[in-house]
Amino acid sequence: MTSRPAVFLDRDGTLTDEVGYVNHPSRLRLLPRSAEAIRRLNAAGVPAVVVTNQAGIARGYFSQDVLDAVNATLVAQLAEAGARLDGVYVCPHHPTEGAPPYRARCECRKPKPGLLRRAAAELGLDLARSTMIGDKPSDLVPGREVGAATVLVLTGYGRGEWEYHRDRFAVKPDHVADDLLDAVEWALAQRGAA
Ligand SMILES: [Mg+2]
Ligand SMILES: [Zn+2]
Repeated sequence: MTSRPAVFLDRDGTLTDEVGYVNHPSRLRLLPRSAEAIRRLNAAGVPAVVVTNQAGIARGYFSQDVLDAVNATLVAQLAEAGARLDGVYVCPHHPTEGAPPYRARCECRKPKPGLLRRAAAELGLDLARSTMIGDKPSDLVPGREVGAATVLVLTGYGRGEWEYHRDRFAVKPDHVADDLLDAVEWALAQRGAA
């Protein structure tokens, strides 16, 4: 299998508005330039893969069915705008809250890189030529761990994290972008477009 570079993206605060736990599809809002960002990736033939922590499941705030409905809404809103995701990978776990099987010290909750590795294995992705985009330092860590480039977006928690806490970032982003579209343009210029 030929392995391709991909762009991994966080969901809440990166692709969609950060509103806390999204416990109903009606709470999901795409950020203004997100659909265009995904269309750019589609046009470049670069897989767009969402990797998201959803500990609200472990905490009992919403069910797997509700999460599935929220993500289906995300896919549908993007499709309406002519944009297509190549995968949506979710960690539903929390290390200390709730009950098994969701209360677990898993390998997939970011900052661990399990979701990226699972996607790479299933979709045939070259992690070292990929890019991870997110609005929190914990999104950057798994990207660096697998050898991908890392981009912090200033949407969601990004602006506050960058302005007030950048000194304690375990991983300094390779690039800081205003939003997902800026991040995708940087990623394509760096690696994906060749
Ligand atoms: Mg986020
Ligand atoms: Zn997990």
